[in-house]
Amino acid sequence: MNENIEKKYIIDHTAPFFEIQGEMERFAELHHVPILSRDSLDLLVSLIKIKKPKRILEFGTATAYSAIAMAVNMPDDGEIITIERNDKRFDEATRNIHRMRLQNKIKIFQIDATEAHDIIAQNAPYDFVFIDAAKGQYRLFFDMAFPHVSKGGVMVSDNMFHKGIVFEEHISRVEKRQRTIYKRMRAYIDFLKKDNDLFFSTLLPVGDGVAITYKV
Ligand code: SAM
Repeated sequence: MNENIEKKYIIDHTAPFFEIQGEMERFAELHHVPILSRDSLDLLVSLIKIKKPKRILEFGTATAYSAIAMAVNMPDDGEIITIERNDKRFDEATRNIHRMRLQNKIKIFQIDATEAHDIIAQNAPYDFVFIDAAKGQYRLFFDMAFPHVSKGGVMVSDNMFHKGIVFEEHISRVEKRQRTIYKRMRAYIDFLKKDNDLFFSTLLPVGDGVAITYKV
């Protein structure tokens, strides 16, 4: 089956989740902001509707596209803690959150997520975590969040396939500058899929690859 046809079909059959969604998608395209693909957003929102999380932690806000989609689909008394280090994206995200009048529901922090231990601990616990920031740091983000996730909590990691490079059989075929990400992403997949008593993960070929982890 042709992946693009599948993707287009899903997009054509999914109504936007919030008013300024189309505008945000056009902004992202114009300014090269890497936001969630529509099919991954669809999956994320479905998980939010099923799980009904009260507290969400997000690594990588960008312009708050995924944060807004989660916020409008989670319970009214829920809260999202989202982290973005880039100045311009932080400003654009803040603007979008205010436009949607979601400032009481989405708390955005401008900091490098690798240094956000205190913020994460102070706002815990979480019943849903979305990992969508620096690809080479997913294991670190997982380890930072996991102790603060309640039992039965769900963790979603996006871009697991990193545009297909994780499938390259030999590291020598991977571009030099991508090798660290490749090695770390492969190690992260091994870690998530290894049989253990603490969590269970499944890997789905949606968007650029999505991992869903359930904390036992
Ligand atoms: N979740 C967003 C969405 O779908 O709308 C997209 C996030 S985008 C893929 C990744 C974002 O993470 C970028 O805006 C980038 O600036 C940010 N980022 C990358 N590494 C980070 C880090 N160590 N700490 C905080 N933000 C980071």
